[in-house]
Amino acid sequence: MVVRGIAASDGIGIGKAVCIREETYTFSDAQFAGKEKEKERLEEGIASFTEETKKLAEKIRKSSGEKEADILLGHITMLHDPFMLSQMQENIETGRCAENAVDAVCTMYADMFAAVEDELMRQRAADVRDIKARLLAILSGKAPIDLSRLPKDSVLVAKELTPSMTVELQTENVSAILTEQGGKTSHSAILARGLELPAVLGVAGITETVKEGEGLIVDGTEGMAILSPDTKTTAQYRKKQEKAREEKKQLSVYRDRPTKDADGQRYEVFANIGSPKEAEQAVQNGAEGIGLFRTEFLFMDRSSLPSEEEQYDAYAEVARYMKGKKVVIRTLDVGGDKEIPYLSMGKEENPFLGYRAIRYCLSHKEQFRVQLRAILRAGAIHGNLCIMLPFITSVEEIREAKALLEVCKKELRNEGKAFDEKISVGIMTETPASVLLAELLAKEADFFSIGTNDLTQYILAADRGNPKVEYLYDECHPAVLRGIQKVIEAAKKAGIPVAMCGAAAAEAKLIPLFLAWGLEEFSVTPSDILPTRKRISSWRKSDAKAAEKEAMGLSTGAGIAGYLTGVLKNRE
Ligand code: PEP
Ligand code: MG
Repeated sequence: MVVRGIAASDGIGIGKAVCIREETYTFSDAQFAGKEKEKERLEEGIASFTEETKKLAEKIRKSSGEKEADILLGHITMLHDPFMLSQMQENIETGRCAENAVDAVCTMYADMFAAVEDELMRQRAADVRDIKARLLAILSGKAPIDLSRLPKDSVLVAKELTPSMTVELQTENVSAILTEQGGKTSHSAILARGLELPAVLGVAGITETVKEGEGLIVDGTEGMAILSPDTKTTAQYRKKQEKAREEKKQLSVYRDRPTKDADGQRYEVFANIGSPKEAEQAVQNGAEGIGLFRTEFLFMDRSSLPSEEEQYDAYAEVARYMKGKKVVIRTLDVGGDKEIPYLSMGKEENPFLGYRAIRYCLSHKEQFRVQLRAILRAGAIHGNLCIMLPFITSVEEIREAKALLEVCKKELRNEGKAFDEKISVGIMTETPASVLLAELLAKEADFFSIGTNDLTQYILAADRGNPKVEYLYDECHPAVLRGIQKVIEAAKKAGIPVAMCGAAAAEAKLIPLFLAWGLEEFSVTPSDILPTRKRISSWRKSDAKAAEKEAMGLSTGAGIAGYLTGVLKNRE
């Protein structure tokens, strides 16, 4: 039997099911020992919980990393939320025992979070359920589920993978994870990836379907699992597993190497990140710098603008983490599909052609100033920060932003605050206007970074998020490729660096074209760094140029894609 779910963590795991069923605790208000006593028990329970969680977080920090530890530490903050606490105490006031108070309040919060559309909110439901289970285990004096002694080749089957479960997990005995709940960006997925275990999440009813000890194959790359596979299928998957392991091993060789093509020419592969924490993942994956920090994520998931200090802390954290390597910070790219409710930008007929990115910032200079000051100040730490302006369509926009930057520098000078006087200011080339004006913009900007995600949608007039026009959205379209080529050529002629931070930078078949045109900086999601470095290393400039000549002589996107795919196949 084959079941499908969300491909949350890459790889293939083969083993036997170990089903984690939720522990049920029995308690009743009949055990109520008086208001004061129950409140005392609750307080003691919370104190033990806090103590235990800190220890678990320390353990997970060592085994998985900062991000995973922070998820657990977040549980302490949640449980200490004054509102949640007072609701538990109020429950006790009405004659309920501490366990019932915890159960009632946590269940209410978990249900409330689970009902929200937002993925991040739904993650909180999982966190609250984890808090509830552990706090109830403490209050009932029961040991939590022991995952430290699992048999070899266990496939963990659970309602959800909770942060506390992952700490106890002996990963060498676990071959995969299969759960009922959790999305691609859920905490369960982050944790599974942190543990480097294949995982398929969101398989409805799987804890009921699978029998304890049943044979299982979990394909975390494809997002499917096979229950009770026959020997032939198992053998096939073992082969696949071996191949994937081999590929991974080969890639790890590239982690600490500089990026070079087969002729020995140097390139750089940077990371795209959305938060300071992702810088850690970038470094672990061998990033030579940060080519795009999408700062809009600092503005999301909150109810008011982040202050200069908050922004400074975030940029400084990345700067320190990257230890002098280049970090490109993109100023707020709001609008389009990136909505920030508290900015009240109003509804627009065509948000992608509307009030977004640099347009919004230049008409809210007070807000823009805060971000520019924070970046300038964080730039003083290693002098390695660069400012990148998104969605540029004219020379005036660059001039206006740079004038504001000078105002900020003057202010900081007067205030006696340290900042980077020589910070470079580049632009995203992601609009047709920026391609057509590339020569002129290169005189105003210190560098270019090609945003192929937007450039493709604007050149082809095909919304990047609309499935109905997905067939038109094509990075191999000759118009898009000519646009990219023109931008690279203009930058080279002007002697300014040019990078690419759109998804095309990680597209294997396009690499020979980029190399032929002289692109030297690629910025990709952290997991694409090593594959991109490997791909670049396999090309000689002469071969790349020959492939480019042939490809650019073709007149359709399908023709170009087909030809380049064939070239890659022949080289395997
Ligand atoms: C792009 O447009 O290619 C880009 C990198 O920016 P974003 O995906 O954030 O719009
Ligand atoms: Mg963009």
